[in-house]
Amino acid sequence: MDYSRFFTTALDRLRDERRYRVFADLERIAGRFPHTTWHSPQGPRDIIVWCSNDYLGMGQHPKVIGAMVETATRMGAGAGGTRNISGTNHPLVELERELAELHGKESALLFTSGYVSNETGIATIAKLIPDCLILSDAYNHNSMIEGIRRSGCDKQIFRHNDLVHLEELLKAAGDRPKLIAFESIYSMDADVAPIGAICDLAKKYGAMTYLDEVHAVGMYGPHGAGVAERDGVMNSVDVIEGTLGKAFGCFGGYISASADLCDAVRSYAPGFIFTTALPPAICAAAAASIRHLKSSQWERDRHQDRVARAKAVLTAAGLPVMPSDTHIIPIAVGDPEKCKAASDLLLTEHGIYIQPINFPTVPKGTERLRVTPSPYHDDHLIDALAEALVDVWEKLGLPLRRAMAAE
Ligand code: PLP
Repeated sequence: MDYSRFFTTALDRLRDERRYRVFADLERIAGRFPHTTWHSPQGPRDIIVWCSNDYLGMGQHPKVIGAMVETATRMGAGAGGTRNISGTNHPLVELERELAELHGKESALLFTSGYVSNETGIATIAKLIPDCLILSDAYNHNSMIEGIRRSGCDKQIFRHNDLVHLEELLKAAGDRPKLIAFESIYSMDADVAPIGAICDLAKKYGAMTYLDEVHAVGMYGPHGAGVAERDGVMNSVDVIEGTLGKAFGCFGGYISASADLCDAVRSYAPGFIFTTALPPAICAAAAASIRHLKSSQWERDRHQDRVARAKAVLTAAGLPVMPSDTHIIPIAVGDPEKCKAASDLLLTEHGIYIQPINFPTVPKGTERLRVTPSPYHDDHLIDALAEALVDVWEKLGLPLRRAMAAE
């Protein structure tokens, strides 16, 4: 049997559908973010990254790097196995305390990524609730969808951020237990959930709430706990899930909730029990990042300032900037080949890296570039981005708003 042909055929299918993904070979330069070395086919080249989810540049912060190096030097590189087999390293215990405090919850539980925390967290929580019905926002991330699927529970999908539809489904569900799963910031459309109103509905109809704050932690709220903190509704959410891999600049994921809920997930979740714990140096670095962002407002203020300027400059340049209430700036392309070509031209001709966002990450016909400014993208970099995008748009025959207005 020629097994390799199955894989070749699968890859050909992706290429035919223009869905084959190519990743740039990048080397981040600590202290010079967003400057990065691209290992191009012609050799190393200095470029600017405009699509990192290290939103605040905390991955290069001296306190974060310092904590990581110091802890690795004292405690070594790995965690030594699962927590069930090898015990828990002390920096991990401290990090869980830090996270519980950040979200004003009794407890927190760490996983090896945000993906795993959603997948195994939602599946376990819902399985432990007899006859649970999960109500899931239509735009929820794949990790939540997989968690819901693995729970084996009944599910219903409510239209994205649609309170009327959610209420209809809650009402129709009657007295059975219900879990509402949603995100605070939807990272491809850059819009925000009405968290308070969803929690009010949950209370009215006796449902539990599970909120993914992956694209908000570190960046919103006076202590960086997320949009629920900013909106003053953190206490109304039963489970807050987050990542340490984006604005906190490190790696790992977590849930924070009541002590019993976290203890039950700790005791039942296969994605927690059967995998090696986060290494001590990662935990110490993440804790340093969280502590810094709890008290420092500079990164959040400067981030919002850069985002506002980038939105204004790109919009004034006539680019099809999609509406965004957040720090994420999607620019509509609407064609997978042109989206990939735009990304390639930006990189090769302008030294700017923005990964194309195509199906299945977004629906077909809504392909886009997704720009994420950081506190370190200065005026000069923003102006250079606008010029480069206009040049690429013209080369590819993509519509610019000022050209459309002049017609
Ligand atoms: N939740 C959402 C909404 C995400 O966008 C992502 C990843 O991009 C995750 C969870 C997974 O988080 P992590 O990257 O830490 O695995």
